[in-house]
Amino acid sequence: MAGLSKFMSLSPELYDYLVAHGNNRDPLLQELSRETAKLGPISVMEIASEQGTFMGILTAAIGARSAVEVGTFTGYSSLCVARALPSNGELLCCDVNQEWTAIAKRYWEKAGVAHKITLKIGPALETLRALPERNSFDIAFIDADKTNYRDYYEEILKRLRQNGLILLDNVLWSGAVLDQNDQSEDTKAIRAINDFVSHDDRVEAVMLPIADGLTIARKR
Ligand code: CA
Repeated sequence: MAGLSKFMSLSPELYDYLVAHGNNRDPLLQELSRETAKLGPISVMEIASEQGTFMGILTAAIGARSAVEVGTFTGYSSLCVARALPSNGELLCCDVNQEWTAIAKRYWEKAGVAHKITLKIGPALETLRALPERNSFDIAFIDADKTNYRDYYEEILKRLRQNGLILLDNVLWSGAVLDQNDQSEDTKAIRAINDFVSHDDRVEAVMLPIADGLTIARKR
């Protein structure tokens, strides 16, 4: 049946080939990745380079001026998005961790995009709910605690312009979404948001096999 499939599984070599054939060889991003790697196993939370490039392309292609990110970590995704915004563009970064975002801040300075970024340290739901409910965001990236994905999605959707995009990260959860023996809170939350978004008539959504799975939802 292989000839009938419309997908293919990547080998490590094919994945390397894929990464090497995007032009995502930015020295500053590579420096950030090296610094993030020094944090140890937690560094796996940094997004993949091709995902960063993809997010930058989406941001620029829709002419985004206002962006929001829930879960900044050491700043890789925020750098990609902020660079793709115009010079008067704005990115709101929500995170709870001072140590990680201190690294992000240094790289925003180095990249000359710090003036576009507002960092809010604290629970992102509080940050989002304090914002006026007008359709101000063009693009959003949700990549934080999985059990709150649904709430982040709702708060952002209320504040997203028509044809704006919400990106949800880790939606395949290393394949655990299919493992019925895995009933952890995180896994159940990912399954729930995936089921919800795929039936949400307010958006058009597609799930892509980038990195750990990325859903793109366009507000109708
Ligand atoms: Ca992630």
